[in-house]
Amino acid sequence: MSASLPASLALSVVIPVYNEALNLPLLFARLYPVLDALGHNYEVIFTNDGSTDRSIELLSAQQAVRSDVTRVIDFNANYGQHMAIMAAFERVRGAVIVTLDADLQNPPEEIPKLLAKMAAGHDYVGGFRIDRRDSLFRTYASRVINKVRERTTNIQMTDQGCMLRAYRRPIIDAIVQSGAINTFIPALAYSFSGNPAEVGVKHEERHAGASNYSVHQLIRLNFDLITGFSLAPLQYFTMFSMACATGSFLLVLILAGRRLIVGAEAEGLFTLFGILFFLISVTMVGIGLIGEYVGRTYQVVRARQRYHVRATLETSRASGDGHPNGPR
Ligand code: UDP
Ligand code: MG
Repeated sequence: MSASLPASLALSVVIPVYNEALNLPLLFARLYPVLDALGHNYEVIFTNDGSTDRSIELLSAQQAVRSDVTRVIDFNANYGQHMAIMAAFERVRGAVIVTLDADLQNPPEEIPKLLAKMAAGHDYVGGFRIDRRDSLFRTYASRVINKVRERTTNIQMTDQGCMLRAYRRPIIDAIVQSGAINTFIPALAYSFSGNPAEVGVKHEERHAGASNYSVHQLIRLNFDLITGFSLAPLQYFTMFSMACATGSFLLVLILAGRRLIVGAEAEGLFTLFGILFFLISVTMVGIGLIGEYVGRTYQVVRARQRYHVRATLETSRASGDGHPNGPR
């Protein structure tokens, strides 16, 4: 399949790593042969996202072994998968960029499939997982969330959670320039793409260790995905509040009428409580929702450094490596 890309086309593979020491040796063993077989200049950029295990030692050993094609960005702390990818995006040199997970859930052997689709003229190729190997809860929860996202944002993706994706350089440059924070990279890329496509990719069980995402983090990530890409939640909320206000006004009219016709009555007190509690909770949801957006605005306005790179491991040979664009 490598023949479908011109040999001069350079590739950057971006991999975020958080406590993946048990997976890295197998990842190296499977990834590099696939990339070597493509027959293009390539680089692999690993971002160590503040791992507390031996990941960084393994990464620096690998960087020494394959210093011609390997670069490592070392964060001082854990900033999350998407920030780790973003840091690599700021440094990529390839004309095509591929992202993938370090835990071997995305088989590196599927990369040529993405590249073949790119060669057919697409600027963004997303993978969707055939036969997803995650817990039932996660699989179903993501289906629901996918639907919510499709309704609230203009982003159409079969599988937002699959990180095995390929992008052309201008999209990555646009992502970097957008200075987005708390972002969801596949969605941001989609919004900059002119000709997106999708391909089915295999999905494997995590080779070792457990997912780094707790339910709480997944909820947060999805808040970011929805509030980071659309104002629809605020608009829906306003519409719903208007409906509630109309309903409440009608209720007041009915009660006032009954007061005049029937006289004082105490029944229905608990119904009123019920209605009141409901309206209070609606208000609270609204305040929370506004808070989400205010929080995002605050972070953008504060413009603090999004992550701190403690060190970068790369040798000059890995810098440029004959690619026409050279180092940036
Ligand atoms: N990851 C990261 N920082 C984090 C959490 C995860 O860099 O804070 C990396 C992790 O090492 C892996 C990828 O992001 O390469 C996906 O993480 P994980 O497998 O935990 O997520 P899941 O597959 O359960 O969505
Ligand atoms: Mg995983």
